[in-house]
Order: sequence, then structure tokens, then C-alpha cells
Amino acid sequence: MIDTHTHINTVPLLSDIDNIVSRANKNNVLHMIAVGMNKKANQQGILLSEKYPCIYAAIGLHPSDVNDEQLDIEQLEQQAKHNKVVAIGEIGIDLYWVKDNFVLQKEVFIKQIELALSVDLPVIIHSRNSANEIYDIVENYPSLRGVMHCYSENVELLDKFIDLGFYIGVGGIVTFKNAKEVIEIAKKTPLDRLLVETDAPYLAPVPYRGKTNEPAYTAYTLSKLAEIRGLTIAEMDRITTDNTVRLFTKMNIQKQTSL
Ligand SMILES: [Zn+2]
Repeated sequence: MIDTHTHINTVPLLSDIDNIVSRANKNNVLHMIAVGMNKKANQQGILLSEKYPCIYAAIGLHPSDVNDEQLDIEQLEQQAKHNKVVAIGEIGIDLYWVKDNFVLQKEVFIKQIELALSVDLPVIIHSRNSANEIYDIVENYPSLRGVMHCYSENVELLDKFIDLGFYIGVGGIVTFKNAKEVIEIAKKTPLDRLLVETDAPYLAPVPYRGKTNEPAYTAYTLSKLAEIRGLTIAEMDRITTDNTVRLFTKMNIQKQTSL
């Protein structure tokens, strides 16, 4: 299995990183992408990717960090050349926490999309109360590839993101009893566009709901996804692994035969 979206590059997971990685590997999570949000997390993700063969990094400025940090596009461009930096992210728009800086969020998002295109990397997109705004931007970039991470918005827009070529990241919410919308999304997304992720330390799947999430819990989400689609866990693992390798081309890993 591959956890395509985890924040092991920040506390609390970073403080216990050796155990987090070994528990993940013991639970058949053989690769993971440490996703950045700001300079500190980006740098830390790259350091982890250098220390652990199973860790890859994504770098970017998160929409919730644009008020605290200036976008340094030259630095991101430099870091993007690192052989284990596989994506630009997470980037996007978040109109849930802060709305009044929409113009700034949009500008920072667009600059990072253009960076991703220039260095030929996929984007990892964070969307909260902003699926329409994001769609209006990304539809202008037909050659952009990427994932709508932990997508839990608008089911109607799902098809439009799929039509643009986007992948859909499914996280622990799909295991929650009341997660009608995310279950619907997991049902409707074409099999060749599904990715599995934890977004750890957030959004732990059942039976760990409410606790600190970690990459080792990826299997709970994967097995729920398999159940929803009427497949075996091994089949769903193979499908989501193939999808991950197809999207994150720099991961360059052997096809796994885990599980
Ligand atoms: Zn995240």
C-alpha cells in the first residue's frame, strides 16, 4: 500500500518518526508521501525522504499559510529538482477558515500551478468550501495533472474534475458511518482514478476515529474502499498502487505485491 498524503514531516508524527515508519512498514504501507504546507514542513519532508527510502516528499504553500508566509517560488523550483520530490502540494483554496484573503490565496495557487507545469510535476490540491473556485482555475490548464486530496465536497463537480484528468484521494472519512457524500464519491470515482491516503495526523479512520492518525492505518480506508466497490483488498491495493505510480511518475517504484 501507499499512503499518498501524510504529514509525518510535522509534529506530532515527526517527534516519533522511527516508530511511525516502522509501524507503517509492518502494516504493509511500503511507501508514503510526506506532504508539505510551508517552508519548514517542505524542508523537513525532503530531509525525511533522504533518510528513509520509503518516504517521498511534496512541497508547496498551503492556502491556510499564505497570511503567515510569503511564497518563495525560486526556492520551491530549486527543491522540485530533488529526485524524491514527486509533487507540488498541498496547494489550493480554503474558504472555510479564512475567506477575506481569497485574492491572495488565488494568486499563490495559480503561481504554484504554473510552477508544477514548468517542472512537470503533478499537484496535490486542498479544497474546502472552494470546489467551484478551484474548478474555475484548474480548467484553464488542460495539461495539469493532479489529485483532489481528501475530496469531500460537491459530488456534482466530481465528474468535472474527473473529466479534467484529476485523481481523487480518499481518506479515513469514508469509514465514518455518517459520511454519505464521501461514500458516494468513493462509489462514483472511476477505479483508475482512486488514490488512498490518511492525511495523518488528522481524520483517523474507524476504529481510531478521533485519535491521532498515522500511515499504518491506511489499510482501514483501503479495505472500506474495497468493500464499497465489491473488490478484494488485494485487488484494491493493486489498483490504487498502479494509480499512484501513474500519477506520481517520479516515484519510480517497483510494482508491489503486498498483501
Ligand atoms: Zn493534508
